[in-house]
Amino acid sequence: MTNQSLLISNAELLSKPGRRNDISISNGTITKIGELTPSGSEVTIDAKGGLLIPGLNDHHVHLISYAASLASVQCGPPITSPETLAEALNSQTGTYWLRGIGFHESVHPNLDRQWLDENGPNRPIRIQHRSGRLWILNSQGLALIQEGAAGLRFHERARLNSDDGRLYDVDELLGLLTRQQSPPVDVASENLARFGITGINDMTPSNDSNTWQWFAELQSSGSLRQKVRMSGRPELTESAHAGAQLTMGETKVHLHDSSLPDFSELVKTIDNSHRINRTIAVHCVTETELVFTLSAFRSAGTISGDRIEHASLVPPALIEQLQELELGVVTQPNFILERGDSYLRNIPVAEHPFLYRCRSLIDAHIPVAFGTDLPFGDPDPWVSLNAATNRQTASGDCLGESECISPDIALKGYLGDLSHPFESRSIKAGEPADCCLLDAPWEVLKDDLRSSHVALTTRDGEVIYSRN
Ligand SMILES: [Zn+2]
Repeated sequence: MTNQSLLISNAELLSKPGRRNDISISNGTITKIGELTPSGSEVTIDAKGGLLIPGLNDHHVHLISYAASLASVQCGPPITSPETLAEALNSQTGTYWLRGIGFHESVHPNLDRQWLDENGPNRPIRIQHRSGRLWILNSQGLALIQEGAAGLRFHERARLNSDDGRLYDVDELLGLLTRQQSPPVDVASENLARFGITGINDMTPSNDSNTWQWFAELQSSGSLRQKVRMSGRPELTESAHAGAQLTMGETKVHLHDSSLPDFSELVKTIDNSHRINRTIAVHCVTETELVFTLSAFRSAGTISGDRIEHASLVPPALIEQLQELELGVVTQPNFILERGDSYLRNIPVAEHPFLYRCRSLIDAHIPVAFGTDLPFGDPDPWVSLNAATNRQTASGDCLGESECISPDIALKGYLGDLSHPFESRSIKAGEPADCCLLDAPWEVLKDDLRSSHVALTTRDGEVIYSRN
């Protein structure tokens, strides 16, 4: 599908509500917008009045952890019967190893190779008993393990033979034989495309040149379809493969309340990053971390694009400081939904208005953008958009009602440029064709912010998700 010319007809644009436009895409770029007739080589997609927006950029993710989380499936309670176990195993997509955890006999009294062959998906499966001592494999899994064990000593190989697929005390051996299996980044990437995401900022603090190389390979092999901005260690440098698909992000500093670094150390880290014109992102979830960080920025100075990650708790006095220092905030409204009930229970009432602020920051002209923090937060950005507008917790309580923002403002949280998260993009000629087509106009969507409305996602004009 690369370099295919597309004509998206009858689409609504945020800049022209209620009107229909045709958008022509070729060589990865939006070329024309207007009333267009398809040329011979163009594939036409009728948007039927649906909204076309720039592909969403998730400004705070941990992609590899997310991919790893997709490779495990819970095989014990709440799974309680062979039927529900079969359902759980078959609900996972992919062709790589499927790893089950937490299995117990209460689910199935004699789970074995034959049952997995007959009831599980067509891929290698290994399921761990919750005691940790027993693994149960299907035929494909067993064959793969035995193939990998060809170079091992005879007595070790013998431990991997089993007619019923039940292997005891081989945890270490299995770990060794499956370690090379990388997590299913392809599935992670597909999931993100389904949400309309065309770019991510990977904020994992340990990201280094090896991770950079790995991501570059994942992109060139087609497993990873999104553009990536990679933040990480100070040592992470744009070693190779820098380009439109993989760009260098912030120096990421991860603070822990209990063991804050030496103050001058943080000032030096900020300073060193600025010297090479690299922006910096500091993880701040507590008031102490934020106070400490703001003081360090006051010493070292700031450059445009420096940012606070999470800003989970911002007392009023610190809003002013954020503003003075011209720092941006990348926050996670999804945590209001996901963790709000526990915040309401465990955090003093007086601090509730300070949690995961949005509106008050925007009103103070502090640049705000969103990231899901997947897999620690729900990977679906639409869930967080919805939470930003209603501030509802899972149980239906409201956390910080005055911090609600309108759907129009919320959407901008994911429309920022990957490298400039606080600068919103729009669909216009000359821009890369990173697009998300929805199946309804904004008038409908703004009251129904759900990813199920995503109909088509293109990155550089290449279709990376199509609902049909
Ligand atoms: Zn994070």
